[in-house]
Amino acid sequence: MMSDSDSGTVLIDKNSEKEPTDDSPKTSEKTKTNFDVIIIGAGPAGYTAGIYSSRARHDTLIISGLLPGGQLMNTTDVENYPGFSDGIMGPDLMQVMRKQTERMGTTIIDDVVVNVDFRRSPFKVLTASEEFEAKAIIVCTGATPRKIGIDGEQTFAGKGVSYCATCDGAFFREQPIAVVGGGDSCMEEAIFLTKFASKVHIIHRRDEFRASKIMQERALSNEKIQVHWNSTVKDIKGDEKVKQIILTDTKTNEETSLDMGGVFVAIGHEPNTELFKNQLELDENGYIILKNNTETSVEGIFSAGDVHDHRYRQAVTAAGYGCMAAIDVDKYLAEKK
Ligand code: NAP
Repeated sequence: MMSDSDSGTVLIDKNSEKEPTDDSPKTSEKTKTNFDVIIIGAGPAGYTAGIYSSRARHDTLIISGLLPGGQLMNTTDVENYPGFSDGIMGPDLMQVMRKQTERMGTTIIDDVVVNVDFRRSPFKVLTASEEFEAKAIIVCTGATPRKIGIDGEQTFAGKGVSYCATCDGAFFREQPIAVVGGGDSCMEEAIFLTKFASKVHIIHRRDEFRASKIMQERALSNEKIQVHWNSTVKDIKGDEKVKQIILTDTKTNEETSLDMGGVFVAIGHEPNTELFKNQLELDENGYIILKNNTETSVEGIFSAGDVHDHRYRQAVTAAGYGCMAAIDVDKYLAEKK
């Protein structure tokens, strides 16, 4: 490891087991590890933050995480992102956002952050192989669909169990499909799936929905949708693919088996905040609490997107938050000078 004396930048030769010497070539194979700003996560929030941060002339790094592009990589048509009059596929949208971010000068590394140290500045962000430092951080790690937590769910993930109707609905033409949940997402998914399914079964654990009245009305008035109230999915069975689900009636404990081609789980999302549990203030559901515009409970650590926003959860709002966080970081760094 060596320090570039002009910038204080530490360079690492990724291809060498040995520590590079002063006369090692400074090529693109080397990764800088000191930045003004590190953005953790590469969904719409992370990329937008990168664009604004780099345009404000801050040396900016994005560490993308396991799924560069975030949740939109698992969607098909995106019709509500402004600027695309004919709609755009989710992965294509993320690809152009990434290109735009790189063009602005942001460094992007496809790696996973395994630890952070936000106790003092410069803040530390660690991957399995490297340690990065920055004067400010923007956390854009998003949220992940919640799991039911039964064995069959894991066994048949991608083989009939799905978390995204728009991505996978078309695979279940003329088959019975179960949708688990009771909120707006569940209603939306169930209604969407009636386009393909022979019948849609909503499985809800209580006797009333949490969803908005209008969404409930739409679902309940759809002839293809049947609701199983007070029911939980005990198991999912099949061979290569899902064939049946076993329901338990929560009032009587009675078990019923239903033939099913697919199971869509729509029971909400979990914010990706495991890394920040002991470092940032989180609410009772694990979402990051913002204290001062987009700044978190720690001065110098900002956040944008679904990791703090459980209300709107849209690509366009996440992008908006990314912009806001980068502007807040710019002000923070200017005041620090
Ligand atoms: P949500 O509102 O939190 O609803 C989650 C549903 O899943 C609840 O009905 C809950 O049951 C059920 N559930 C949770 N954990 C479960 C488990 N382990 N097993 C079985 N069922 C379980 O989540 P969401 O539907 O994803 O919506 C999140 C937010 O996005 C909401 O604010 C919603 O309004 C918004 N949204 C809006 C739209 C729209 O306006 N078009 C579309 C989608 C989402 P209980 O009710 O018994 O707790």
